[in-house]
Amino acid sequence: VESLTVAELAKKLHREPSELVKKLFMLGTMATVNQELDKDGIELICADYGVEVEEEILIDSTDLETYFDEEQNEADQIERPSVVTIMGHVDHGKTTLLDSIRKTKVTEGEAGGITQHIGAYQVEVNDKKITFLDTPGHAAFTTMRARGAKVTDITILVVAADDGVMPQTVEAINHAKAAEVPIIIAVNKMDKPSANPDRVMQELTEHGLVPEAWGGDTIFVPVSALNGEGIDNLLEMILLVGEVEEYKANPKRRALGTVIEAELDKGRGSVATLLVQDGTLNVGDPIVVGYTFGRVRAMVNDLGRRVKSAGPSTPVEITGLNDVPQAGDRFVVFEDEKTARSIGETRAQQALQAQRGEKTRVSLDNLFEQM
Ligand code: GDP
Ligand code: MG
Repeated sequence: VESLTVAELAKKLHREPSELVKKLFMLGTMATVNQELDKDGIELICADYGVEVEEEILIDSTDLETYFDEEQNEADQIERPSVVTIMGHVDHGKTTLLDSIRKTKVTEGEAGGITQHIGAYQVEVNDKKITFLDTPGHAAFTTMRARGAKVTDITILVVAADDGVMPQTVEAINHAKAAEVPIIIAVNKMDKPSANPDRVMQELTEHGLVPEAWGGDTIFVPVSALNGEGIDNLLEMILLVGEVEEYKANPKRRALGTVIEAELDKGRGSVATLLVQDGTLNVGDPIVVGYTFGRVRAMVNDLGRRVKSAGPSTPVEITGLNDVPQAGDRFVVFEDEKTARSIGETRAQQALQAQRGEKTRVSLDNLFEQM
């Protein structure tokens, strides 16, 4: 539904329909109580009443960062692993590539298989770590970006060499550009006889991604996610970009980061996968996560192992929150539990009020749902 009648809007605003008709007349529109108002009309009246119209209530928890302003020593800033997201058109090989990287690297020196899935994992290449987010690329990326959270350092854009640039390829380029995230191109499916990497390069050049061989500065790596060819090269290129960009963090401070995934588990309660972006997260830390709070009860890493602490760029699954946060929510660790609880409770209340569309706020989506 894209509209409301004058009477319906009046009800929502707790006014008499006739009052709205009068108001519309003053604003230069002749209307009856049953007249349909479009979005612009609704906004016009709401503005006149000083009511804010919200298209969608996006709970933005980036303001949590204001609690993260303790004094810092520049010398404590050290190199941290790059956080990488894989994007690309459907069927171009994102999942296969993530699995392939995971298989070749994660299990090296690790006993047993990996059963745990926490939405992110780390691999070690040349004694350096790289963090991969394996949340469904586009959705996670857009939700998180819409909420103001920046989690990705580098985007791997997968383009199938037998298919070339497709609509979601362009979408991914636009997201990465808007977020100012460096892009590395993985030209995938090179094992196929019909692979045509030149065509991929040519098509991407039209989108401003010019390969180094043609005088540009975009890294293209031919790979086969299926047989593993080129994967080592791709990982080395990620390290190279990481070195150039010099991603740093301070492991000595209280932790700050973003929720990657969260759900309610029957046995364990609220379970959230967090990406620590700065500082070190410890078991027992008092924490506010979006609009939830608690104390970190237990932490599990990407290999399913219990850990006591997690430094910058590390994904961990935690329990101990009073409620389930949302992907893209920010988290901050506090010095004491009392402060965390008080801030967490206040925020939960604010979120609830915003969702109910209390008095001065009317959500258009909610309005339409009721019709
Ligand atoms: P996604 O939709 O981007 O996650 O793509 P998938 O990883 O699910 O791959 C789609 C299909 O392409 C699957 O059948 C894969 O087995 C196949 N595929 C992925 N990578 C390669 C590759 O490097 N070579 C070949 N021949 N097939 C591949
Ligand atoms: Mg997939």
